[in-house]
Amino acid sequence: MQHNTPMLDNAKPATRSAYFSEEHEMLRAQIRRFVETEIKPHALAWETQGFTPRETLRKMGELGFLGIRYPAEYGGAEMNTLGSVVLAEELGRSTFSGVAITVLVHTDMASVHIFNAGSQSQKDRFMPDIVAGKKIVAVAVTEPGAGSDVKGIRTTARREGDHYVLNGTKMFITNGVHGDLYCVAAKTGVNARPSQSVSMFLVEKGTPGFRVGRALDKHGWRSSDTAELIFEDCRVPAENILGEEGQGFYSIMKNFQNERTVISAMAIGECDAALEITLDWLRDRKAFGAPLWDKQAIRARIATLAGQIEAGRQLVHHAAWMDAQGFDAVKEVSMAKAYCGELVNEVMYACVQFHGGMGFMRESAIERMSRDARVQSIGGGATEVMLEEVAKRIAR
Ligand SMILES: Cc1cc2nc3c(=O)[nH]c(=O)nc-3n(C[C@H](O)[C@H](O)[C@H](O)COP(=O)(O)OP(=O)(O)OC[C@H]3O[C@@H](n4cnc5c(N)ncnc54)[C@H](O)[C@@H]3O)c2cc1C
Repeated sequence: MQHNTPMLDNAKPATRSAYFSEEHEMLRAQIRRFVETEIKPHALAWETQGFTPRETLRKMGELGFLGIRYPAEYGGAEMNTLGSVVLAEELGRSTFSGVAITVLVHTDMASVHIFNAGSQSQKDRFMPDIVAGKKIVAVAVTEPGAGSDVKGIRTTARREGDHYVLNGTKMFITNGVHGDLYCVAAKTGVNARPSQSVSMFLVEKGTPGFRVGRALDKHGWRSSDTAELIFEDCRVPAENILGEEGQGFYSIMKNFQNERTVISAMAIGECDAALEITLDWLRDRKAFGAPLWDKQAIRARIATLAGQIEAGRQLVHHAAWMDAQGFDAVKEVSMAKAYCGELVNEVMYACVQFHGGMGFMRESAIERMSRDARVQSIGGGATEVMLEEVAKRIAR
């Protein structure tokens, strides 16, 4: 018998996965400890207040959790995509996905725009504070009239001398109220081809003409702040453009890969936590003279879901590994996002069902988790859009 990982007689490999190193597992243990001590005891209060305190991000920054894939010169840990997956899975396991998304938007969805497209001076200026959790980042692409269809955005950026003047409204922006830095998509080329008409800009909180319209009240993810943002003749210095003018659509598509990978990984963490919570419940709860866990119909349903979760996990890990190796993983990432976004909802539905009436009560974790899961087949690429990406690629 051959093993990919060399093994001594009777020795086990260092990790239980072909994809992760011991370094990844150490990171996982550290984040899990942080979640238990610094997130879970407080997050119910954050759900009520509608945001995760920036102090929590500061602490995560101090522990190195916000710069997992960034260079050491910015305070980062120089790991690969699988490091981000570890962070997302463990935050997903917290049972508070509002906290998870607050962090993951900062680390893997917004700051990547600065890191991947920013000039050396933009990166030198902002990345150290981002990695330290001193400056919170948001990414603002979606608008009231355009979400899935990025080319349909209507916010404009008009060049005037050594400034761009932004006008438009952004919608559903995570970290929108409490952010410090915003990576904003706007149309620069009114007459250009749609794919070459979008540019990204860095807008700092406090820039005249930029304001938070309102904080949005949500079905789930209640410990994350989500906002409408308004730009009215907002003048930003021309050097605040991120990358080249007209190349924003391509940067958004590139950075979506990261975003979709971590949302998928977060969903797997949520599924794991939901199953654990439900198994505990099923062992305790008695009906018809025996624990619910003894009922064959329930055991079979849970076992089926456990298999699906494992399949989703392996798909996410494989997609992240492909990305880390430098392969084009758009098909695999899209598959993972579509699969995990639907799966997490299926898992929550069953887990609420097996909790009976208690699963419908605000006091149960599974009730919150089922609300949190709903958006995961919508945000960051709706399932239908992801399946279209897959279909295009399997037809080639
Ligand atoms: C809580 C929350 C946080 C968010 N955070 C951010 C953020 O930080 N930054 C940001 O820019 N955006 C953010 N978003 C926006 C999110 O990415 C969009 O909601 C998502 O892309 C869907 O866009 P939409 O809401 O405009 O739906 P639409 O694009 O109008 O689509 C509506 C539905 O139509 C279906 N559909 C769409 N296109 C197709 C198609 N081609 N084929 C078949 N069916 C289709 C899908 O079922 C989809 O859910 C957030 C959204 C939410 C709810």
